[in-house]
Amino acid sequence: MPFADIIVDISIEKLNRPFTYEVPDSLLDIVKIGDQVMIPFGRGNSLKKGFVIGLKEESGVEEGIILKKIDSILPDCGIYGELIRLSKFMAEQFGGTLNQALRTCLPLKKPGKIKEKEYIYRKADDDTLSLEIAEANRKHAVARLRLLEALKEDMVIPRDIIVKKLHVPGDTIRKLAEKDIIVIDKKREYREVLPNGINRNTEIVLNDSQKRIVDSVIADYKSGANNVSLIKGVTGSGKTEVYMEIMDAVIRDGKKVILLIPEIALTYQTLIRYYRRFGDRIAVLHSKLSDGERFDQISRVENGEVDIMIGPRSALFTPFKDIGLIVIDEEHENAYKSEQIPRYHAVAVAKERIRMSHGMLILGSATPSMESFYKAKKGEYKLYELNERFYKNPLPEVHIADMREELRKGNVSIFSDKLDELIKDRLNKHEQIMLFLNRRGISGFVSCRSCGYVVKCPNCDVSLTLHSNKKMVCHYCGYETPEIKTCPSCGSKYIAGFKVGTEKIEELIHKNYPEATVLRMDADTTKGKTGHEDIVAAFINKEADILIGTQMIVKGHDFPDVTLVGILAADMSLFASDYHANENTFELLTQAAGRAGRGNIPGEVVIQTYNPENFAIKTAASHDYNAFYNEEIMYRSLMKYPPAGNLLTIMITSDSEEKIERLAGDLASVIRGASDRSVTVLGPVDATIKKINNVYRKVIYIKAKEYETLVIWKNRIEEYRRKTEYRDGSVGFDFNPSESF
Ligand code: ADP
Ligand code: ZN
Ligand code: ZN
Repeated sequence: MPFADIIVDISIEKLNRPFTYEVPDSLLDIVKIGDQVMIPFGRGNSLKKGFVIGLKEESGVEEGIILKKIDSILPDCGIYGELIRLSKFMAEQFGGTLNQALRTCLPLKKPGKIKEKEYIYRKADDDTLSLEIAEANRKHAVARLRLLEALKEDMVIPRDIIVKKLHVPGDTIRKLAEKDIIVIDKKREYREVLPNGINRNTEIVLNDSQKRIVDSVIADYKSGANNVSLIKGVTGSGKTEVYMEIMDAVIRDGKKVILLIPEIALTYQTLIRYYRRFGDRIAVLHSKLSDGERFDQISRVENGEVDIMIGPRSALFTPFKDIGLIVIDEEHENAYKSEQIPRYHAVAVAKERIRMSHGMLILGSATPSMESFYKAKKGEYKLYELNERFYKNPLPEVHIADMREELRKGNVSIFSDKLDELIKDRLNKHEQIMLFLNRRGISGFVSCRSCGYVVKCPNCDVSLTLHSNKKMVCHYCGYETPEIKTCPSCGSKYIAGFKVGTEKIEELIHKNYPEATVLRMDADTTKGKTGHEDIVAAFINKEADILIGTQMIVKGHDFPDVTLVGILAADMSLFASDYHANENTFELLTQAAGRAGRGNIPGEVVIQTYNPENFAIKTAASHDYNAFYNEEIMYRSLMKYPPAGNLLTIMITSDSEEKIERLAGDLASVIRGASDRSVTVLGPVDATIKKINNVYRKVIYIKAKEYETLVIWKNRIEEYRRKTEYRDGSVGFDFNPSESF
């Protein structure tokens, strides 16, 4: 293509003003998106470096304006070339424009102020220094003497230490500099985001199972034989030590490492472990960093001062050259899927990055996603297992409390008799308790408190959602039916939409167990930079008997004194109206149960449910991942849901009900008209939330065996949208969605 969009610097702001250049004939078939080029720039047309972020047929400028030409392509595309190419991949694979993808991949370079710190360097040799000390002594120049004595010990001292701790006046420092005894110099200082003064430790001896994994992965790394490994290991089995050992080998090979940890598990406790091993060659990104702190972390990477970047999903876009390894810990987490355009999945993007840099990818989890385990079983990933906790402490004993039975016995409280008995026991023994409220999918599914019956769609096998218009609706196929007042299964009147909050539970605890001290962790109590850490620290310091919380309390923390975990309303997530419901439930229950008995005393878990025979609950209680997987994969295969097939959600939004009907209807009939038997088209139907802020939302689903088939459909739909002049609303895409739209 004869024209190129070029930015002269790498940053999100510069995306707003790319410059159009003409591609000279000699470069026509050569120049690619991501290339670093030399361009004449400004009035003097001096040559500057720029990046090609787009290529186009039409220049888009008025006739008569003569465009400048690209001078040449630099052989080395710089660190950012790879990220620009990655953006192109993301726009193609996940939908959205190239600009949206570039915005995701390129660093936020709000030009944080560069902070500098002054240092005093000793310049004089030992003899000269001795003479100076003698003179200062003679003149009773005590401040000067303190500084000179200090310089006998250390060749470099930060100026603020000299001023504040040694109480040496600025004048004295200046005079010594004039006499050439010392030199004052500034050094760039990075804002500290990592713990300071932590002892390094490196003396870990891996056990045999850990060693086998490390040896095998490193052998693959050297031969290039395999590039994706899945490590399935129960919590506490020593996965982290395995990652660190492999990371170490890769760094010693001169390559860089990206370690992804979900934000919720990116705790101080976790960071310290990596810091102990690797010291300050680590950088960290997370959402609570200020712009300045973020800027410094990226600058350290650009200046080659970092070997390992640790962070959530967005750390994938660290501007490293030569990535040898990406590790994705807790790979099953939904947080690895972006809910902003482009709706990418970190695993897919990581695979593309390591493909570009010939590196390898390690996925780790106690409860691998269906997707990853499916691929491992098919041989696409190499599978490793660690089935025992490192300290061999047993997994906790799990009791299932049947809440229908409790109701029959006349217990209408939210605590089962078993949980009540164990709470009292632990309060007596002064051991700690965690109460976990499963709130995923609290969208108002309709269930019977008497028999556990949940109203489901006859076509889709997902639960119906109660809408305010008193209808129960399926968000997959649009099936709807009026709200029911009596349970079709047992005739009970206790059938309704279900909702409880953490605050309510705290209230009930105070009422039932007045002597207990309680901490609560949820979105409300963790606002602010350290809210979350403060609560964790307080609980670890045994400032409370009971910690109540949602998802947040079950990820990434080690509370050695917790010997009882209560899971209230385990069913909540079972009936979320999407096909991940069982998987999310199994994973959450396993994680929650894993919090009990991490220390020396074995733990117990109570799972409260209206569906004790549900396989996700039963298999979580028996710590049996394989049994869960085998049953769930049958359901996915039957329904052709991922990973047995692929699903594209087409999300349509519009500001008018009439327009969205027209747009969604047209789109669906165009798709159906052009479709063949390789795809199944469902919808259009109302989205889970039909209207947000007066914007109407509808969905169309396309199911296909192959992901690439869906990419072709996405491209066709985008093409169709470009051709038609409809301005009725907008259309977005979500591949294998992790949440319903
Ligand atoms: P995971 O990441 O699978 O949850 P960890 O790596 O955190 O497991 O290991 C659990 C505990 O066992 C940690 O306290 C860790 O320090 C310890 N541990 C694991 N492997 C070793 C080892 N080889 N030597 C000593 N301690 C180990
Ligand atoms: Zn019933
Ligand atoms: Zn349905």
